[in-house]
Amino acid sequence: MALVSASKKRTSSQLDSSDRSTKIAKIHPLFGPKPTPVAESGPLRWSKALGPDGSCLHVKHLDPPSSVKVAAFDLDGTVISSLPFSAPALQWHWWNASVPAKLKKAASEGYAIVMFSNQGGLRAAPRQKDWKKKIALIAAAVPDLPFMLFAATAKDNYRKPMIGMWQELERLYEAGGVKIDKASSFFVGDAAGRNYPSSTKSKDFASTDRKFALNVDVPFYTPEEYFLGKAPEPNFTLKGFHVSSLPSLPLYTPSSSPLIPSPPVQELVLFVGYPCLGKTTFFRQYFEPAGYIHINQDTLKTRIKCVKAVQDALVAGKKCVVDNTNRDASTRRYYIDVATKLKVPVRCMLFTGSLELAFHNNLYRAYCLPPSVAAREPRREALPKAAFTTFKDSFEEPELGEGLAQIKKVNWVFNGTPEERKAWSRWLQFDEK
Ligand SMILES: [Mg+2]
Repeated sequence: MALVSASKKRTSSQLDSSDRSTKIAKIHPLFGPKPTPVAESGPLRWSKALGPDGSCLHVKHLDPPSSVKVAAFDLDGTVISSLPFSAPALQWHWWNASVPAKLKKAASEGYAIVMFSNQGGLRAAPRQKDWKKKIALIAAAVPDLPFMLFAATAKDNYRKPMIGMWQELERLYEAGGVKIDKASSFFVGDAAGRNYPSSTKSKDFASTDRKFALNVDVPFYTPEEYFLGKAPEPNFTLKGFHVSSLPSLPLYTPSSSPLIPSPPVQELVLFVGYPCLGKTTFFRQYFEPAGYIHINQDTLKTRIKCVKAVQDALVAGKKCVVDNTNRDASTRRYYIDVATKLKVPVRCMLFTGSLELAFHNNLYRAYCLPPSVAAREPRREALPKAAFTTFKDSFEEPELGEGLAQIKKVNWVFNGTPEERKAWSRWLQFDEK
């Protein structure tokens, strides 16, 4: 690169210095080692990793402007070529020779250059250190190009297609009073779900980048379109779960009998279904106002305590709901036996939502609540995938023969403001099976 001057190239020890800068800053200058000035005044500045778990790496090269127009790029397979995992850590090359000039042209037209990269393999410190050195080498190859880069190292709200990295950019800009004009911004990425049916070219490994652009609501281009001026590839698929695939169903069926018996009767109601299908909300909305006691293992911790709570409620002449996943007949049997002995009828509410919907809701609740909702609710950790697959593997659909007087199916109906629905309707899941 003709523009790389010797003075702007950095030695590997200088490249390392950014890693040390935050530690050095905490030591009194009289006692600590002499701080290396390069980290703070140098062209590449890593900030403290973002997010509650520090999972989002963030770096600025030079002094990137806050612009209403953002030219955003994926990194691997877009700005630089994707190399095999076995390639030397510091090896890299542009995706195409035209990339640096195109980036500079966009910057000269007033676009802020921002990269959003999924880097799931970077949790381990040695890999992260090498990767940061590689970013320094890339920056050194465009010494006059200001840019910002975000990298998601965990499977959380920062990982594309989720939009946490974009939201961090918005927050940074907001501090300076700049609001991004999405219609004049764009995102370029190679994970576009292209199929290439009439060529020998292999399919895109994923469609994450296209989903990210849809989620953020900015125009999307593939590297071929943006850097090479090629026509859009019309044949692409967005695989995986999206809420638009959900059928429109009534809240519960059969609807010939009411949800809550009228006149009221003493009964035990067992909820059955994946976590994150709105069982507790359903209880609060319909059963609590009708005087039912809420029995839940997340609160009581053990099944023994849940069974005891059912026994106590029924002996006291009360109605109650067991709001657990109750995935198989043997689990349900503990509660049914108690009620049967006391001659109290048992009904079942089967929450019909799929594993994919339940996991989507899990990600939405943990990572994607609109700020106004997140502010009024306690932070919820995402449940691991195993919480859902275990249910699926051992699920036995409830049958009347288990001692149930009635089984109602409760269908998922989204309940929330338009802002909440918009956030819930994004592509959230990482795998695209
Ligand atoms: Mg890529």
